[in-house]
Amino acid sequence: MAKSIQAVRGMNDILPGETSRWQYLEDTLREVVHAYGYQEIRLPVLEKTELFKRSIGEVTDIVEKEMYTFDDRNGDSLSMRPEGTASCVRACMQHGLLHNQVQRLWYAGPMFRHERPQKGRYRQFHQIGIEAFGMAGPDIDAEIIFMSARMWQRLGLQGAVLQINSLGSVAARVVYRTALVDYLRAHEDALDEDSRRRLDSNPLRILDSKNPAMQGLIEAAPRLPDYLDDESREHFARLCTLLDAAGLEYEINPRLVRGLDYYSNTVFEWVTDQLGAQGTICAGGRYDGLVEYLGGKPTPAFGFALGLERLLALLEAGNIGIPVQQPHVYLVLSGQAAVQRGMVFAEQLRDAVPGLQLQSNCGDGSFKSQFKRADKSGAQLALVMGDDEVAEGNVILKSLRDESGQTTLAQQDVAARLQALLEQT
Ligand code: ATP
Ligand code: MG
Repeated sequence: MAKSIQAVRGMNDILPGETSRWQYLEDTLREVVHAYGYQEIRLPVLEKTELFKRSIGEVTDIVEKEMYTFDDRNGDSLSMRPEGTASCVRACMQHGLLHNQVQRLWYAGPMFRHERPQKGRYRQFHQIGIEAFGMAGPDIDAEIIFMSARMWQRLGLQGAVLQINSLGSVAARVVYRTALVDYLRAHEDALDEDSRRRLDSNPLRILDSKNPAMQGLIEAAPRLPDYLDDESREHFARLCTLLDAAGLEYEINPRLVRGLDYYSNTVFEWVTDQLGAQGTICAGGRYDGLVEYLGGKPTPAFGFALGLERLLALLEAGNIGIPVQQPHVYLVLSGQAAVQRGMVFAEQLRDAVPGLQLQSNCGDGSFKSQFKRADKSGAQLALVMGDDEVAEGNVILKSLRDESGQTTLAQQDVAARLQALLEQT
């Protein structure tokens, strides 16, 4: 026999036993996002490679080593999206959504990066992203940070720490960059290979290095906050005031950066110590330069993306209960007459009771085996129909989870009874 085919490494099936958790997470986050009046945008999974090269930057981990890139049948270079911001900006520009208007948008879906798979790091993973366009002030920065905080609160997650920083204006960063490069050059012997390569192309990204051997050097490097221009300082101070006014706690992390020139002012991350090395659950910031960089008119923009796998792992680590999806009722049908009547009866109940989740027994079976299936379904209640009940127009209602026993009801009374029971729960 041929060897059975396995999924691609780092790309996970989400099995029926897990999808309730995913749906709960997605529903909860969607509610939060809608509470702020954001609209969903749905974007393709494939884009021209050029889009990511330009927007994410050629000298980033993502573009250098992590993208799934291939030539399609026409010889065009396409890439599986490694993140959503680039597509979102591309779509908004293409459809004229940015000119003279503001947009508050969100998206969700799978992203693809060829990384070394480990806990919290996969090759297909899922993000929810938020992007707001056309608003330059720190109020929108604060709104979006509040939204992220509300997400953790609604999920019952504890222990996530908000880190913020300001990258300043592009001009201020040029000055900082020179100071940083001078410092790093003076310590070139201590740089690892990645950092040495980045020294000319993307030195800010060196501050983001995860190599423990580099941490001392990074700690002692010139600090971005010392290079901020007045306007950036003011933007950051106003943001901090807004966060303080809402009582939201944060840490200022002067080494929190984004490597690319079109980022400016606010950057933020939510980090936790409960997920080992993969401790960032959410990252974002202001990218006022990107739209122009991709050929549009200058457009202020702010956004973030969060990783759903890491949030699920956190829910698990925190032992946070998640409602599982189970039918309310399992319909046991014994004999041909009961199957015939019961299939119709099930349809009538679904018509009559909004929200009812009813699973019918299909495939016959003894009472014993049908009750086993009923038990396994997770349903609270069984409805039971045999030849006698069909003849009498009745059905038996039986509790599957406690000793409250069973009652015989007229079929026409069942809908009202189920309705009442659903309202109680
Ligand atoms: P990291 O530093 O962990 O590699 P990143 O800076 O590459 O993260 P972003 O591009 O900012 O991550 O993506 C936002 C969020 O998406 C991350 O905070 C994380 O929650 C999630 N994420 C990123 N890469 C992966 C991955 N390979 N597997 C699972 N989740 C991921
Ligand atoms: Mg990464």
